[in-house]
Amino acid sequence: MNQLPGFTDALKQLIASPSISSTQTRWDQGNLAIIQLLATWFEQLGFSVDIQKVPQTRDKYNLLAKLGSGEGGLLLAGHSDTVPFDENRWHSDPHKILNKDDRFYGLGTCDMKGFFAFVLQACKGLTAKQLKKPLYILATADEETTMAGARFFIKKQLMKPDVAIIGEPTNLVPVIMHKGHMSHRISIQGKSGHSSKPSLGVNAIEIMHLVIGKLLVLKEQLAKDFVNKSFDVTAPTLNLGAIKGGDNANRICGHCELDIDMRSLPGMTDAHLINLLAETLKPLAEKFPHRISFDELHPSSPSFEQKQPSEFVSFAEELSGHQCCAVNYATEAPYIQQLGCQTIVMGPGSIDQAHQPNEYLAHSEIQKTEAILLKMIQHYCLKA
Ligand SMILES: [Zn+2]
Repeated sequence: MNQLPGFTDALKQLIASPSISSTQTRWDQGNLAIIQLLATWFEQLGFSVDIQKVPQTRDKYNLLAKLGSGEGGLLLAGHSDTVPFDENRWHSDPHKILNKDDRFYGLGTCDMKGFFAFVLQACKGLTAKQLKKPLYILATADEETTMAGARFFIKKQLMKPDVAIIGEPTNLVPVIMHKGHMSHRISIQGKSGHSSKPSLGVNAIEIMHLVIGKLLVLKEQLAKDFVNKSFDVTAPTLNLGAIKGGDNANRICGHCELDIDMRSLPGMTDAHLINLLAETLKPLAEKFPHRISFDELHPSSPSFEQKQPSEFVSFAEELSGHQCCAVNYATEAPYIQQLGCQTIVMGPGSIDQAHQPNEYLAHSEIQKTEAILLKMIQHYCLKA
């Protein structure tokens, strides 16, 4: 048996195994190498390991490792991919750990390959015989782009743990809520023509002007009708993000499109928001038949809420010494939660370092993270 790496060496190997996901194909990489690395480690620890190819991706895989048997148990989950990096703004090689100033620098150290180095250490020495309930490790693909890995994983419903921790960087604060996200393109098909003969064309920009008027009313309405005081921005948001239309001052604009994003509060479904959008645009769609359409730009990600009171959340608060909170970014939590488990997002490192040049994990996180993971495993999986 090969020697299993210690924390620093494990982190080094994880960071040295590039797994960038991006909607731009020149950046997008497969993640099989890192999945195989994790498989080797957890197999050595006696876990049964299942590697699943994620359909409709460019050669991406999920890994599920399981120790012990029976119902319930604990799931430690995270994504195996990272975002691309800006070479000019990194002071060191993003794929090589730089241990400096009490920090480990490297792409994915805090978001969130580093989490698996912690999990590996926490699992050392465990045997199936010691467990009353199973311990699962899940590493997903393409979280940073489409969340295809998590979407695919929950479709199969391979297990139903009692509780799940997603180790995204939260400074070890238990996160129990975030907003959902969806983006749409609204397109107006007009009819172009010479500007001197307005009656011969249909100006798409003029119709878009009316659409924007309606959207601004919807935006106000959302802020009035829905409030969740757990968030800094307490209402669902609607942002007009990009607009394009026309080509020349002397032509009637034949086509115009507007990209918007909406962020829903927990409790609102995608269907609910889409309905509101459709209702808002309905009078205009009737006035200008077949000229207004809207399409999803990216797959939407749902909002997330772990309902309170929850024994699991209280336990996480006690271990971490932090009160649970809501955050503004999206995670895989709403998917993992569909397994039927109590779910929180809690991991080492700060989201401020994620997706940034010179991403790092502070040494000060190590002991605390290891202690929390060990206690979680002990509480939810180990025999008394
Ligand atoms: Zn992440």
